[in-house]
Amino acid sequence: MTIETDNVGSLNELRTIGHAHEKVILNLLRQHQQLSQTDLCKMTALNSSTISYAVGRLREKGLISESPGESKKRGVKPTIITLNPSGLYIIGAEINPSYILMGLFNFNGQLIDSTKTEILTVNNKPEVVIDELVKMLTGLTSRYGILTEKLLGIGITLSGSISSEGVVNLASPLGWKNVPLKAKIKDRVPVPGYVYSTRVRLLAEVDLTARGHSRNILYLNVANGVGSSVIIDGTLACGSTGRASEIGHIVITPDGLPCGCGNKGCLETLISGPAISKRIKADIAAGVETSLSQQLNGEDLPEEIIKKWGQSIRSGDAYSLDLREMVALNLSRVAGIAINCYDPDLILLAGYVTQACNGYLIEQIQETMGTDVYDNASRQICIIPAQAGQEAPMRGVAIAVLQNALRV
Ligand SMILES: [Zn+2]
Repeated sequence: MTIETDNVGSLNELRTIGHAHEKVILNLLRQHQQLSQTDLCKMTALNSSTISYAVGRLREKGLISESPGESKKRGVKPTIITLNPSGLYIIGAEINPSYILMGLFNFNGQLIDSTKTEILTVNNKPEVVIDELVKMLTGLTSRYGILTEKLLGIGITLSGSISSEGVVNLASPLGWKNVPLKAKIKDRVPVPGYVYSTRVRLLAEVDLTARGHSRNILYLNVANGVGSSVIIDGTLACGSTGRASEIGHIVITPDGLPCGCGNKGCLETLISGPAISKRIKADIAAGVETSLSQQLNGEDLPEEIIKKWGQSIRSGDAYSLDLREMVALNLSRVAGIAINCYDPDLILLAGYVTQACNGYLIEQIQETMGTDVYDNASRQICIIPAQAGQEAPMRGVAIAVLQNALRV
């Protein structure tokens, strides 16, 4: 799967990997883990001297490893080529309203180590966050003795609207507006920088759960916000303004509660973690009977309230079960719309709200498909919980950097 988007590095940045044939070989090695020169000739339809030359260049740069393989016939054993994990490194970082999470990844895309810094709301000004990013980057690379020339790039992801030049036009949770983040990073860090919206988290999910199995994936995330990402025919859809698949802002009740986006009655105002938490607190204050009234602490954050709601669901609390019904009904209706639009064969359910009751949500989406989805009988859709967890944005942005550098 590839990401077709924003802020592709300059030609000079991409040249660090080499010319097209070298990138083709590296992409095939990422996909198949290990190949011989004969395999590469067959897969690329290039002749053996061209492949030998490109393999030689990659060997000189230390980007591949070679070892003797097994041969079914007697005679010379073929040389097996793999990516050299320590050939290059990538930094992936997520700027979240409450923390920065940064990971160091090897050339195989495996996480070597990560570091996390809590940021206070009062202290999340771009300059302060960039200072922190630089400090974290220096800490991680010096811990492993990695020189800057070994870094392919730093990818930064955050929730918001981001231009193709890496300008954060709007990131409401952080309170950022028109921040030229890519340019600011370039002034401070001597490696190519890339900025993406948290949509890249889906690249991490594909890497962990669906590599090679599906090219049409719908990812539904219900957490502090409600959103989705969609891969159609192997490509992450971004849309003309980078706002594709904003399912959280489908209007469900036109005269409903005001949404952060300025409209009223969006799906997000009904089923996001903060929306459910607020409703639980208001219902308890109004005297509703529920086991949750003894469990909640006034200081609880939405994530903690939702966790307790999940426990109450499992203990059979009638109020909590009714609330689950409301979430399932609205989420499955919108999932049905998304299935009609995007035709996925895999749906990943992510976010702390879905974790509270994902088995039931999966059942309800399947049931709704029977009534709301066009020609459902001809589709085979698998619905599973997402796997990448809190690391997903950081891991996804590292993969986006790697894909950018290897794009032919
Ligand atoms: Zn909205």
